[in-house]
Amino acid sequence: MNEHISLNLHATAPLQAALYLDHHATTPVDPRVADVAIRMMVEEFGNANGVENTHGERAASAVAQAKDRLAQLLGAEPRDVYFTSGSTEAIQLAISHSIGIHRDQLRIAISRVEHKAVIDTALHAERLGMAAISWIDVDDKAQIDLSSLRSVLDGGIDLVCVMAANNEVGTIYPIAEIVRKASEYGADVLIDATQAIGRMPLDLEELGAAYVILSGHKVYGPKGVGALISPVFEYASIFGLQGAHHPTPNVSGIVAFGFACELMAREGEAESHRLAQLRDQLQERLKSLVPGLIVNGPQTERLPHNLHVSAPGAPNDVVLSRLRGKVSISTGSACNTGAQEPSHVLRAMRLPDPYIDSCLRIGLGRTTTAADVERAAVEIAEAINDVRSSFSGVLDV
Ligand code: PLP
Repeated sequence: MNEHISLNLHATAPLQAALYLDHHATTPVDPRVADVAIRMMVEEFGNANGVENTHGERAASAVAQAKDRLAQLLGAEPRDVYFTSGSTEAIQLAISHSIGIHRDQLRIAISRVEHKAVIDTALHAERLGMAAISWIDVDDKAQIDLSSLRSVLDGGIDLVCVMAANNEVGTIYPIAEIVRKASEYGADVLIDATQAIGRMPLDLEELGAAYVILSGHKVYGPKGVGALISPVFEYASIFGLQGAHHPTPNVSGIVAFGFACELMAREGEAESHRLAQLRDQLQERLKSLVPGLIVNGPQTERLPHNLHVSAPGAPNDVVLSRLRGKVSISTGSACNTGAQEPSHVLRAMRLPDPYIDSCLRIGLGRTTTAADVERAAVEIAEAINDVRSSFSGVLDV
């Protein structure tokens, strides 16, 4: 039973050596959630589509309970919960559905700081002639410019896409106000709540958005599971998905995701409070160790575990390579290709190039301690200061 497979993984350093502070990219599965997932995989392995026997019935019932759980936690109806492989698939389903129910081209409004999963899907639809995009501007804190939203809505819009909280600089958006404004114009709203659930209050019934997007691996659940919550969605409106066959549900992932959301609902508020304090300590410590450090994004309406900084004169790819094996943080952008592109979020905020080239995203998490924060501050500051001195005179800051 206790056999281990050996994994031949290529990396520059062993895992144990590095402190993990990249919780916007993904979170470790909470051991309590992992226990549930393993139990479901090993014991409740029935096919939830095959309800002709006890195993299948139990699996189907576990999926139904996970829907109930998610719905209850988020103030939604269980029948409106559609499990997916994650946020990207949920976004693609939602936008495809919106295209399907609008006879002409979908008039879609997107904030300039949305995740690439939204932007790339909409751009693809535009290239195919199925959508016409209008862009909503943001200010230098990545906050939505409400007058830009209004003028875009004035032009006629079917679907507005905004996130509940930004995955790079942590900005929290006034989504209730945005949904209200959009509905005055008869537009549906897609809320990408991937980074937000459990970290800020969300009541979907009160919100009244047409589509809400969630992902398991951002909330200490497994990868490969997420949800679209929508009172308007139907598979039948999407070409190719109207057939009778539905894929075999990922029962263990779905149940584990439901439990991870429950833990966020139960513990999220206290955790957010703790992480905001640790984040503020890290921010102050880094500012004291790194001359001229810039904190990007808003200081108040910000995700509690988010710290996004720039250290002009220290190119971020070089800083990250110095931190390999010590602290895992990121630039926050271009997460799907691995390529280091300048962040479209920081560009939309109109930050100067030296800020964009040196930006670092730090994401604290459930297991982060005060000692971790101190260690991270020292390591990150050392890396930045070291890179700065090797690049001084080379870069025009
Ligand atoms: N939306 C936001 C705001 C995200 O942060 C991410 C992941 O980085 C996604 C969507 C895509 O999520 P998933 O990895 O579940 O497809």
